[in-house]
Amino acid sequence: MTHIPDQILRAADQGALFAVNDSGGKDSAASGLAIKSFVDPSQILVLHATLGESEWPGALEQARTHAEHIGAPFMVVQAKKTFLEMVEHRFQTRPEVASWPSPAIRTCTSDLKSQPLKSAIKRYAKEHEYTTVVNVMGLRAEESQRRASKETCVLSERDTIKPKLYKNGHYERGREWLEYLPIHDLTTEVVFGTIADAGLAPHYAYSLGNERVSCVLCIMGCRSDLQNGARHNSSVYQKYAQLEERTGWTFSPSRKTLPELTGIPVESC
Ligand code: SF4
Repeated sequence: MTHIPDQILRAADQGALFAVNDSGGKDSAASGLAIKSFVDPSQILVLHATLGESEWPGALEQARTHAEHIGAPFMVVQAKKTFLEMVEHRFQTRPEVASWPSPAIRTCTSDLKSQPLKSAIKRYAKEHEYTTVVNVMGLRAEESQRRASKETCVLSERDTIKPKLYKNGHYERGREWLEYLPIHDLTTEVVFGTIADAGLAPHYAYSLGNERVSCVLCIMGCRSDLQNGARHNSSVYQKYAQLEERTGWTFSPSRKTLPELTGIPVESC
């Protein structure tokens, strides 16, 4: 079990809302279980930002199962645009720059997941009169250098609102916002073990050999994950490969085309 920072234990004792961002993957499942070990389920909300056809089938249902398992309410949010609409829009408005998001400029994560999730959490916190929000994410140090350098718990100045007392005596409650990574130091093996010990089954894409599960084709996915995604989700793959061909920009930051990476040819539209 990962060490729980005092700030987080205090927040739990003082009735904070713990909002668990759940992609349907293993790290989300383990994060929910970690939170359940010291937070009352009435203070937990599990949210899934769906990417529609771009995400692995069953990811949403898997996130719902995680929520049911820990006895917390479940909410699904969806951005106004889809992944492919975002790429199409970029190509139409700025054809001279890369149409696809990249690991350095992850507009897919920010626009399609983080922003809709944060908006939903803020609305929920307001409606339920929470003054402290703990935003829970399943990022792990083992995944990348960038993730390894993240702190387990930080106060988000941007999302925190200071309380205000107006001259007319009107008082506006503030909102503290903490970002928390409960499984930051866990290894992949421990994550799978934690899920199995809880009696949960991970998403089926892992049994196909996937390392990560969220989007069928992820800009950060390794070649074998891309091959699995393409093989098992042919119509989505074709849409991506056709858009790649049309824009002239590659989906992968490696600058190899999807057919080059997967060995699966693009069909003409
Ligand atoms: S899973 Fe990959 S492609 Fe999908 S939103 Fe996240 S980073 Fe982007």
